[in-house]
Formats: sequence, C-alpha cells, structure tokens
Amino acid sequence: MSERSLDSLSIAERSLRMSKVRSRGNASTEIALLRLLRGAKIPGWRRHLKITGIPDFGFPQLHVAIFVDGCFWHGCSRCRRNVPSKNRTFWSRKIASNRSRDRKARWQLRRSGWIVVRIWEHEFKNPERVVRRLRMVLARAGNQVSRDTPNANATSASVARKIS
Ligand SMILES: [Zn+2]
Repeated sequence: MSERSLDSLSIAERSLRMSKVRSRGNASTEIALLRLLRGAKIPGWRRHLKITGIPDFGFPQLHVAIFVDGCFWHGCSRCRRNVPSKNRTFWSRKIASNRSRDRKARWQLRRSGWIVVRIWEHEFKNPERVVRRLRMVLARAGNQVSRDTPNANATSASVARKIS
C-alpha cells in the first residue's frame, strides 16, 4: 500500500485494517516500544506473554507487564479522538468493550502480583520520558524481587536474624 493511499483513509478505517493484522490494533505503538527497549538496551523482556490480557511486553522475572495502547482503540481520555460519525454506535461500543477488557486484565494481573504499566500512544511523542519511566518501574520491581526472595539479599537476611 502506498503512503498516499494510507493518508486518504480515515483513522477509523485505518484502525480497522490494523485490527485485522493485530487483534489489539496497536501494531505501530508496539513497534515504537520495541525500538525504545532495544535502543535503551533494556534486557529481560518478552513479547506477548501467555498471561492474563497477553501484555505486549513483559518482564517475567520482575513480574512487570506492559501494555502499549493506541489512543483511539483504547479510548484515551486525554486525546479524545473523535469517534467517526458513520457507525458511531459500533465504534463507541467497540471502544467501551476494549476499555472494560483492559481494566479487567489490569486488575487481575495486579491481584496476582504483577506490576502493570500502561503506555499510551501519545506518550511516544516524548520517548525519553517513556524510557525514564520504564527504568524507574523496573528498578523498583528489581528491589522488590530481591526483598521477597529469601537469601537473595544479605541485608534483609541479617535483619531477619536479628528479629528472630
Ligand atoms: Zn492519547
């Protein structure tokens, strides 16, 4: 498909085509994060982990799940992308059901001890900020893991001895 014909499609039509390629309709944002992770040399992630909600990226050891969400498809409240006037009910329902599915997945993951990070499409306008935020979350998750794992952290082991 030429660039020109892509331009002439409305956001909705384009999203529909994308959704046929990927069920969550966020292929381009996913690739944006893939590039950032590689560029920042952040290790330890995998794509499409087979856990609740199938997060776009996951750090299995740290229990961090990342969803990269397209602003239109997931109903970003900041961008408030207009629902096309044609088939308005269809689009509104579709987005509403995506939102409720997203919410359930996040809730279930958090309940089973995962840290859930959601990155909106619009956040990629500031990629440095996305990387900074991820590094912070991963550092925090790393600390938590070493606290939770017995013998992984000498300090906490000695504290435990003192207490007992
Ligand atoms: Zn947005």
